[in-house]
Amino acid sequence: MGASEIETVGIVLRRFDYGDSSQIAHLHCPDAGRLAVLAKAIKRPNPYLKGPFDLFQLGRLAYLPGRESDLGLLKRWEPITGFSGLRRSLPALYAAFYLVDLFWEAARENVADPAGFQLLARALGALEEQGVGVASAVVLASEMGLLAASGQAPALESCASCGRAAPSGAFRLHPQAGGWVCERCPRPRGPALELAPGDRRLLVSLGRAGPGQAARLRLSREQHLALRRFMTELVQTAFERAFRSEAFVRDARRGFVTTSVPSGRLRGAPPSPR
Ligand SMILES: [Zn+2]
Repeated sequence: MGASEIETVGIVLRRFDYGDSSQIAHLHCPDAGRLAVLAKAIKRPNPYLKGPFDLFQLGRLAYLPGRESDLGLLKRWEPITGFSGLRRSLPALYAAFYLVDLFWEAARENVADPAGFQLLARALGALEEQGVGVASAVVLASEMGLLAASGQAPALESCASCGRAAPSGAFRLHPQAGGWVCERCPRPRGPALELAPGDRRLLVSLGRAGPGQAARLRLSREQHLALRRFMTELVQTAFERAFRSEAFVRDARRGFVTTSVPSGRLRGAPPSPR
């Protein structure tokens, strides 16, 4: 055999059935980045593999690494939490679907990513606890963290080209140029989006707060729509692809606003599907 077992923790980003009783899972692990493992007979009673895998589960695992591009072989799996609160709020659940999609793309196979793992764990925890009304803020804060971690944080306070401090008023942002570009620098290509001063400050605050503290920041419907539009462009530019699941977190009718939701109804009351 040669290889020895590796023990770590991981969050389930994707899982597929394999045969009648086995599953393949893609996990986000702090010391392995994106890890693909085969879990033999995990759907049968098994003292070592406490399955089956479910999306968003955080658990302890031990696995034998595969060779090159082979799957790792799961030897132990013990869930710590399934973030079950996500299932009590549609916006939180939609947000979680989008975030695992995004983090799957951002993580590299077998490249340690402890910061990404922490960010995702905090985001799922925040969505689980806060539920309806703050999902938009948690998602935006997570995206800001992910972009910063990959060296692609948007320039919101200084010129993306020369670093000159930005004016305080409204300005145009060029997602493909990395944010604001001052008038002394060459005009960037690609679309530009107008961002009001308040929206820009809110985005900066969301990035600083991170997903765990983002719930303190309230977004109006207009702020949600403006920041979502901008972030969608940024994320598509950074990852060079669109995310279908992003539609889940764009729709204000799905509860991605806070101001109209009375605080007494923040928990346990998913919005109507219309
Ligand atoms: Zn400049």
